[in-house]
Amino acid sequence: MTEISDKQPLERCPHCGYSYLYSRKDFNKPVGCAIVLLGALLSPVTMGISLAVCALIDAVLYMRLKNITICYICAKEFRDAPQNPRHKEFDLGLDEGYERIREEWREKSDK
Ligand SMILES: [Zn+2]
Repeated sequence: MTEISDKQPLERCPHCGYSYLYSRKDFNKPVGCAIVLLGALLSPVTMGISLAVCALIDAVLYMRLKNITICYICAKEFRDAPQNPRHKEFDLGLDEGYERIREEWREKSDK
């Protein structure tokens, strides 16, 4: 019996089948913004120290974040797959280049 291990890095997207994947930090934007906003709100009372502290908290949180793999074509996010070293960060140029493939895929998956 061959078992497909989910511990293998993704080579292609299990959802749409394309191998156009990129990785980014699994960053929770609302949380990050809330921390900075809190620092800014407390800033007048703490003479700016809270802003620096909150920015530091944000930076530490960011560094501890795991990378997730995302598909350029169907935009699905894969949190459990280990990082594939060949996947680079999001590239707007590539993303625009994949636009046609994405539209073809959408048309196919709509049917
Ligand atoms: Zn996909």
